Amino acid sequence: MRRRWLFADQLGPHFLDSPEQPVLLVESKGVFRRRVFHRQKAHLVLSALRHLARGNDNVRLVRAETYAEAVTEPVTVCHPTSRAARGLVRRLPRVEMLAPRGFVTAPEDFVAWAHGRDHLRLEDFYRDARRRHDILMDGAEPAGGRWNFDADNREPPPASLDVPAPPQITEDDIDAEVREDLDRWERDDGIRFVGNDGPRLFPATRAEALARLRHFVEYRLPLFGPYEDAMLAGDPLMAHSMLSASINLGLLDPLEVVEHAEAAYRKKGVDLQSVEGFVRQILGWRDFIWHLYWYFEPGYRNADELGARQELPAWFQRLDADAVEARCLSDVLAGVRDRGWVHHILRLMVLGNYAMQRGWRPGALADWFHRSFVDGYEWVMTANVIGMSQFADGGRMSTKPYAAGGAYISRMSDYCGGCRYRPQVRLGEDACPYTAGYWSFLARHERELAGNHRMRQPLQGLRRLADLEAVVEQEEARGSRAP
Ligand code: FAD
Repeated sequence: MRRRWLFADQLGPHFLDSPEQPVLLVESKGVFRRRVFHRQKAHLVLSALRHLARGNDNVRLVRAETYAEAVTEPVTVCHPTSRAARGLVRRLPRVEMLAPRGFVTAPEDFVAWAHGRDHLRLEDFYRDARRRHDILMDGAEPAGGRWNFDADNREPPPASLDVPAPPQITEDDIDAEVREDLDRWERDDGIRFVGNDGPRLFPATRAEALARLRHFVEYRLPLFGPYEDAMLAGDPLMAHSMLSASINLGLLDPLEVVEHAEAAYRKKGVDLQSVEGFVRQILGWRDFIWHLYWYFEPGYRNADELGARQELPAWFQRLDADAVEARCLSDVLAGVRDRGWVHHILRLMVLGNYAMQRGWRPGALADWFHRSFVDGYEWVMTANVIGMSQFADGGRMSTKPYAAGGAYISRMSDYCGGCRYRPQVRLGEDACPYTAGYWSFLARHERELAGNHRMRQPLQGLRRLADLEAVVEQEEARGSRAP
């Protein structure tokens, strides 16, 4: 059997044809020279590679500056997850590229679904995927008679969410060695990282990842649905799974994750509202985002329909949470700095929303997300950041911009109580930067958004604001200063 070259995001058994297949792993320092990653992301990836190689005679781990130096024998490789890596694989001699693995729907099925549609909407793709893969189906009908529980899954947060934390990771000598290497690279080789180092929080082995999956399904999944969109200052995880890093490293197969969730509904009676909400994230959103990366043209990454040209301010790039007074943004930036991970609604409605309101360059923001998150990869950035969070594609994948003021954050979180700004105030010392930023954003883009029927009501509200001019001036004066 030909040796299988596994990229560092293809580390699970589903990337092999059999457990005995010989494996080539490449640890390339050059990757860390090209992009400034979060220190904990670098640690996680190196730890995962080295754990797979440890004590396994089938695995050859080659340390090299570049992949080209390391791949010296005939190998097969599953389709990589970025255009750059695919280009490299095509250029290397003696490398045979196979179909992608690590996603549920096959590329040809996505293309057949997408072909000829004016709008590519998650809901349509997701229903098709449910039928195609027979997930949460009772014959031809969706389990429980409904496809979508979104309307029930927007509860504001309770005072606290009493769910046990995921099992802790125990670091070992491999982690100690990785930490020493990264310290040395920073000291001697001029390699730079963002974020703080800290105990490894995410699985580096399949056993650790499976333990996290089982724990999530048993203890957190039942509360996943209702509080999916809620935010709590003192609870960075809530009922989220924290599985993205493991699935993106390839340690877990997304189909097995979805099947575990379905089994919890069928065999343990876990509420369909939560199970459907979770299945939608993986079978729906994760796959949808992956396919859009390949389906949209390469230039999609540079889309900028709203003409957003501001560079990211230094405090944001440095994850300088202490420079920020707005409690929500400060807390979320600190989460990125300390963990390289915050949950979805914080990425979308606190980080992305702030950037879009200020007209920060979408491509620079995509790069920032890629660098700063443990689960960040090129494929997951473009549609999530350019399309979903910044509306820079003019609505090719979302029906309206995810722009919101402080009232939204106040309703969906407990941040505003302890904040120096007031969510209902848009002008003056106490003006919430999200509220003022929201009106200022709408004023700036009134013309582009006028034809969007979902924006009709907010734009009517905008026209009724007597102090709009002063709000816009105030926001212009704030510029790129930390709020
Ligand atoms: P849960 O809330 O428990 O969701 C379950 C799983 O669904 C996740 O583990 C993930 O695998 C999948 N998922 C859900 N939504 C998405 C989505 N929109 N795209 C891809 N997968 C999804 N996800 C990443 O994996 N890497 C990223 O770098 C990343 N960057 C993002 C940037 C922005 C601006 C936004 C709006 C979203 C981003 N996401 C990214 C999607 C999502 O926020 C994360 O997958 C999720 O927060 C990870 O935490 P979790 O595992 O607890 O997810």
